[in-house]
Amino acid sequence: MALRFFNTYSRELEEFAPREAGKIDIYTCGPTVYSRAHIGNFRAYIFEDLLQRHLEARGFKVHRVMNITDVDDKTIRGSREAGIPLTKFTEQFKEAFFDDAETLRIKRADEYPSATDQHYIDKMISMIGALIAKGLAYQADDKSVYFRIHNFPNYGKLAHFDLTQLQSTGRVKHDEYDKEHIGDFALWKAWDEKDGDVKWASPWGPGRPGWHIECSAMATALLGDQIDIHCGGVDNIFPHHEAEIAQSEGVTGKKFVRMWMHCAHLLVDGQKMAKSLGNFYTVPDVLAKGYTGRELRYALIRVHYRTQLNFTWEGMNEARESLGRIDDWLRRLREIAGDESGIAPGHEFEDALDDDLNISAALGFLFETIRETNRAMDRGELDPATAGSWLQWWNRVDAVLALGGQEIEIPPAVLALAKEREQARLAKDWKKSDELRDQLSALGWEVRDSKDGQKITKRAGA
Ligand code: AMP
Ligand code: ZN
Repeated sequence: MALRFFNTYSRELEEFAPREAGKIDIYTCGPTVYSRAHIGNFRAYIFEDLLQRHLEARGFKVHRVMNITDVDDKTIRGSREAGIPLTKFTEQFKEAFFDDAETLRIKRADEYPSATDQHYIDKMISMIGALIAKGLAYQADDKSVYFRIHNFPNYGKLAHFDLTQLQSTGRVKHDEYDKEHIGDFALWKAWDEKDGDVKWASPWGPGRPGWHIECSAMATALLGDQIDIHCGGVDNIFPHHEAEIAQSEGVTGKKFVRMWMHCAHLLVDGQKMAKSLGNFYTVPDVLAKGYTGRELRYALIRVHYRTQLNFTWEGMNEARESLGRIDDWLRRLREIAGDESGIAPGHEFEDALDDDLNISAALGFLFETIRETNRAMDRGELDPATAGSWLQWWNRVDAVLALGGQEIEIPPAVLALAKEREQARLAKDWKKSDELRDQLSALGWEVRDSKDGQKITKRAGA
């Protein structure tokens, strides 16, 4: 089945083929490091991780770049308020971002360029110079440089509205009085005293880059003039990605991105999870409630990326339950599996993801498989070779989902106690069996008895 994705640019499902056979370049807008990223941000990063892992499972060599926005109004304000230099202020949130990404099993990008790296600042300055030379940008009286949207006819194509028709409402912010058009956006922001010592030299005087040019410069510097896939959350479509197209294509004259993919928001009580609304949770907030990184990963990955997802604790419990079913299934398969393997399972899981990352269909197929093989095991009809094949299939599937692993983390001491308890139950020594259950519980583990024997799971909150 051919790969197809929903392209925000055309608002249509399009068959996707990279520019170069077997290789895919992906640019993903990364965090603005003025505070710890919230789990809404991580929904976007998990969607991008799923995309990368699936493309790799399909045999593509993926080269992914994720930028770090470490200079903008918010980072400057934060460092001023904290009374520490900008780089020191942003460093702590960069570290936190990498910690949280690891907790959520997100594959590292190949590169994490920082906007404040002089190499990229130079690239931003040269792009702005090229835009001015082409009449696509101008320096205003306030010394800042703005993009002239009237001279870029495609402006608004990604967001699907005609922005050049925007009329000034007379409520233009004070610092934007000098623009020719209300929709013109800043490429270079002239230094003012609020910026303190955050400034770089440029042909237009001291200042700092606008957020949009940062991404155009880092994307083209690392991936070239044209990119296969560019991702972000839907809130990035306008103005950020619209501006990235105008700047990049304005300079190169080539189509910047072949496939624009955006994920819908993570909501809380029906509202977007956002720093500004104060309705957010961070990864450590969720861990502090007793959940694990893989449970959160499951909760964020299980809904199609273009569908809004409401975050609830009930959803976290459902994630735990679903993972428990996977763990139990794997344990049963491992007990049965022999060395040889049988008929190789098909590619329904991968086919589902080929279709615009249809994770609901892919997980539906996984759980249907679990139900069917469990039934066969209940009847004692699953032979060792078939069990082995399903385990191999799981390894393939889990290279994309990255949800496995928990079931082998049961410590040997816990396994020994569980074994002892099993013996006690066989000997009908209920008192000893209960004592052992209490001991296991004290260690944070719960045993349940089923017709297939004991099931050991980590106690909620342990
Ligand atoms: P920011 O640090 O605000 O630039 O956001 C980083 C990434 O997270 C961007 O791709 C945003 O579109 C995305 N994002 C922000 N809030 C949410 C949310 N509530 N749900 C999903 N993605 C989000
Ligand atoms: Zn960006």
